[in-house]
Amino acid sequence: AQSENPDLKIAQAATLEPIGDIAARAGIPDEALIPYGRTKAKVDLRELARLRGDVEDSGEHRLVLVTAMSPTPAGEGKSTTTVGLADAFTLAGKRTMVALREPALGPIMGIKGGATGGGYAQVVPMEDINLHFTGDFHAIQIANNTLAALVDNHIQQGNELNIDPRRMQFKRVVDVNDRALRSLVIGLGGPTQGVPREDGFDIVVASEIMAILCLATDIHDLRQRIASVVVGFTYDREPVTVGDLKIEGAITLLLKNAIDPNLVQTLGGTPALVHGGPFANIAHGCNSLTATRLALGLSEVTVTEAGFGSDLGAEKFLDIKARYGNLKPDAVVVVATVRALKMHGGVAKADLGAEDIPAALEGTANLRRHVENIRKFGLEPVIALNRFPSDTEAELEAVLGWAKDNGFRAALSEVWAKGGAGAEDLAEQVMAAFDDGGDFHHLYDPAEGVEASLTTIATQIYGAERVEFEGKAAAKLRTLKKNGWDTLPVCVAKTQYSFSDDPAKLGAPSGHVLHVRDLVPKIGAGFVVALTGEIMTMPGLPKEPAALRMGVDEDGNAFGLF
Ligand code: ADP
Repeated sequence: AQSENPDLKIAQAATLEPIGDIAARAGIPDEALIPYGRTKAKVDLRELARLRGDVEDSGEHRLVLVTAMSPTPAGEGKSTTTVGLADAFTLAGKRTMVALREPALGPIMGIKGGATGGGYAQVVPMEDINLHFTGDFHAIQIANNTLAALVDNHIQQGNELNIDPRRMQFKRVVDVNDRALRSLVIGLGGPTQGVPREDGFDIVVASEIMAILCLATDIHDLRQRIASVVVGFTYDREPVTVGDLKIEGAITLLLKNAIDPNLVQTLGGTPALVHGGPFANIAHGCNSLTATRLALGLSEVTVTEAGFGSDLGAEKFLDIKARYGNLKPDAVVVVATVRALKMHGGVAKADLGAEDIPAALEGTANLRRHVENIRKFGLEPVIALNRFPSDTEAELEAVLGWAKDNGFRAALSEVWAKGGAGAEDLAEQVMAAFDDGGDFHHLYDPAEGVEASLTTIATQIYGAERVEFEGKAAAKLRTLKKNGWDTLPVCVAKTQYSFSDDPAKLGAPSGHVLHVRDLVPKIGAGFVVALTGEIMTMPGLPKEPAALRMGVDEDGNAFGLF
């Protein structure tokens, strides 16, 4: 009675299987399971590797990546589709696993809500996953902030490394959308209170430690990546790393459990790994490599998701994660909705409920660009038209007809209302795409340098005419070259609403200029972040945050989560 939101109600009404049964179905032995209560567990990767040995298995392991068209602020249902499609494969008798990101608390309290899917296509226990889950984000936050405290303590205690407090680049983080912490001065109050310097907080999902945890192949790789994090520069402009401070051991120790993937289940009983969660607009946007690899090794079909549209999460999945993890997707699903199409066709947010076929068709320009983007990686996309209750038959038919006329693979997806049964056709289309035998390749060669890589992404994926390096960014290009960091892949921080760096430019803009205002070397993560437009690494809360509607009832159940 507490909750008027269908997602939470459906999740709370579900009967969950004990996590040991889910693990057994996934082929994970009991000895490799670290239960967190009855319905969650971590998978002990080392124990699992020891138990499984080097069993050569020649089975099929298909990887399906789910991405989307440029979204409306509420999201177009990527997580929902990922979960529902996996349940459809399970229904079809395939050994299937899901790999998803862990939700961040910041946006849960804001507008976006959680990230466990919706309707009858969810991962559960929904409340736990959306709140503190197995504590990974807290571990990442503390690891990040311990690192920051140790750096400031080094400066306080004599600054043997000659760190210039005006050239620090490692920030503190917190998992709250707290705009008041974006820029501050720390260390005020006299000699015993630290050395005053400018600082600021990012949100946890933008932390380099988060990116590292999500790209590390094992605990040794994690330690090495942490050691190479650049915290700042000396007065002589030389980089200072975590390794120079000799604190990589302590930081790795704080993450020793967080690196193991979390096992839960979908409403359709499919084993799901929910692990790591960098945002796709300010970071690389994919769940951990360890989770994706584990799922791939254990199943015939793995369905995974990358944040926001093909311009953000998917491009980063295909150019960064797939490169470091040696992954080769077999199919890509592009989620589209009638309401997003109408928005890109010029309809105002408040009017998206009313039927408007011409606007939906006008908005296909945006979807077409996403489809073409995926083809640039040598992969054939499948459009999943995620059906919302407000869509009319005529609108759905018009969009599917458009896809057919253009020779695009497409299927209506009704997983929100029907679970796996609502994606039978979509699963068939995806299986047909497996047989298309794509020729996957990355979009650019990082060896050509950051400027060239960025130009390729901007012109090929965003439809831009060129890239402009403004202010700090031009000088940073020289720093990258001087330090040998110019050949790392690029992770673009850009608005999710537009192919351009201006969130108001909807549809499929072209000929625009991508404005890069800063380039931040994330050497531990193994990429260079290009900050474009106004994008912030610490979001703010809206005027009416979702937090206003949340609480706990007398029985201890959450309400207001969505
Ligand atoms: P994304 O992963 O693209 O951000 P989600 O899958 O998290 O999107 O869905 C965002 C919100 O939209 C969730 O609250 C979900 O319940 C809701 N939603 C998704 N698909 C549908 C649908 N077909 N009908 C109604 N609500 C939906």
